Amino acid sequence: MHTKTLQALASALADKSVSSVELTEHFLKRCREHNDNLNSFITLTEETALAQAKAADDARAKGNAGPLTGIPFAQKDLFCTKGIKTTCASKMLDNFIAPYDATLVTKCQDAGLVSLGKTNMDEFAMGSSNENSHYGAVKNPWDTARVPGGSSGGSAAAVAARLVPAASGTDTGGSIRQPASFSGITGIKPTYGRVSRYGMIAFASSLDQGGVFTQTAEDAALLMNVIAGFDPKDSTSADVAVPDYAATLNDSLHGLKIGLPKEYFAEGLDSSIATIIENAAKTLEQQGASVTEISLPNTPSAIPVYYVIAPAECSSNLSRFDGVRYGYRCEAPNDLEDLYKRSRGEGFGAEVKRRIMIGTYALSAGYYDAYYLKAQQVRRMISNDFQQAFNDVDVILGPTCPTTAFKLGEKTTDPVSMYLNDIYTISTNLAGLPGMSIPAGFVDGMPVGMQLIGNHFSEAKLLNIGHQFQQVTDWHQQMPEGF
Ligand code: GLN
Repeated sequence: MHTKTLQALASALADKSVSSVELTEHFLKRCREHNDNLNSFITLTEETALAQAKAADDARAKGNAGPLTGIPFAQKDLFCTKGIKTTCASKMLDNFIAPYDATLVTKCQDAGLVSLGKTNMDEFAMGSSNENSHYGAVKNPWDTARVPGGSSGGSAAAVAARLVPAASGTDTGGSIRQPASFSGITGIKPTYGRVSRYGMIAFASSLDQGGVFTQTAEDAALLMNVIAGFDPKDSTSADVAVPDYAATLNDSLHGLKIGLPKEYFAEGLDSSIATIIENAAKTLEQQGASVTEISLPNTPSAIPVYYVIAPAECSSNLSRFDGVRYGYRCEAPNDLEDLYKRSRGEGFGAEVKRRIMIGTYALSAGYYDAYYLKAQQVRRMISNDFQQAFNDVDVILGPTCPTTAFKLGEKTTDPVSMYLNDIYTISTNLAGLPGMSIPAGFVDGMPVGMQLIGNHFSEAKLLNIGHQFQQVTDWHQQMPEGF
């Protein structure tokens, strides 16, 4: 049952060969069995899940079911869930019960999805390995000595191990696509503004975007139909019509123009991964696409630009955690300043503090022009590179990451080497573009993802290409042993 795609499970629910309660019990059992090992969930909400499943079955019996009513799902623990602990994997929010639901959560509930719980992540979504969690690291189901990627590592590991058919994630610099690549699953980061950020705890507001992890591009399309759309509660939400993402999955790839950026195949890329991506390009050529080389010349600036802008925005966003209003408060403060200092000093982990310090520095009066303003100017150049490329090609194809999943502990003492892992994913966020990672092969038993990047609001095209690729390949069907 758990090996089935979301689409197959939806059909099974529709023809009543299984009930939502049965499905939910089955997946919850798997979560309980494997969570000690993988640590992919911070909170399992068994009671509410079973109540939602029962309600889904009742709705179906009355003829009120939508296409996904009764399907188990999991939410990254960064989306506010009313009445349920929402931690962002931080000691700061270990006691935080959200008073309202994020829009994405409401939309999932309205579609009848059953939430099994809240998944582990890097603290405040800062990280690429899920080792920065107050609740401990998540393990990669393909090799539990390795990281699942981050920051949405819990969602990725849970979907990869088939503990749940799909889960939400957020992507500020790669946090959906990189863990999807490391864990052998499909992950889509939509265009900035496509999915509401309301109730998504903010890291870097001009970069953050919610999306999903699934086995297949088809499943991702079904979920995009649920989560996409304008939200008046999010001032950066885009008021752009939402297509039916499932309607164009079977479009032919004839005439599609794909660009391979030469900068994504330069030094630093594992040569076996390069071969896998070149083979994927050949497969797409056989399906009717044409492939050319393109250039995104400002790629080398993406990481330095991101590590000014993201910390600057995070230092501002995280100033709300002051020990006064909600979240962690230190014991017996001497005065207000002591309360602020110790609550923040004790409540935040090392990586979060590092970012707050970098960001505060970059935004300070004497340095603003030299760092933040300059970074915003280079950000525009990175964005212009993409627009230039989209004059010649429809989509961009490349690796999602330069390597496969690394070992737990391998990069924890060297933050810069951790940051470099996001070289191919970060530019997309800086330019607000949609990106998707889908399984494209294996190196030494570890999954490799390929990344498709499109112009703004071209998610349907990415999903179409992903679906067509998955019709002639079976990388997405491979499962880690022992699950
Ligand atoms: N790995 C990047 C970082 O540490 C991106 C994280 C993300 O996308 N949330 O900031």
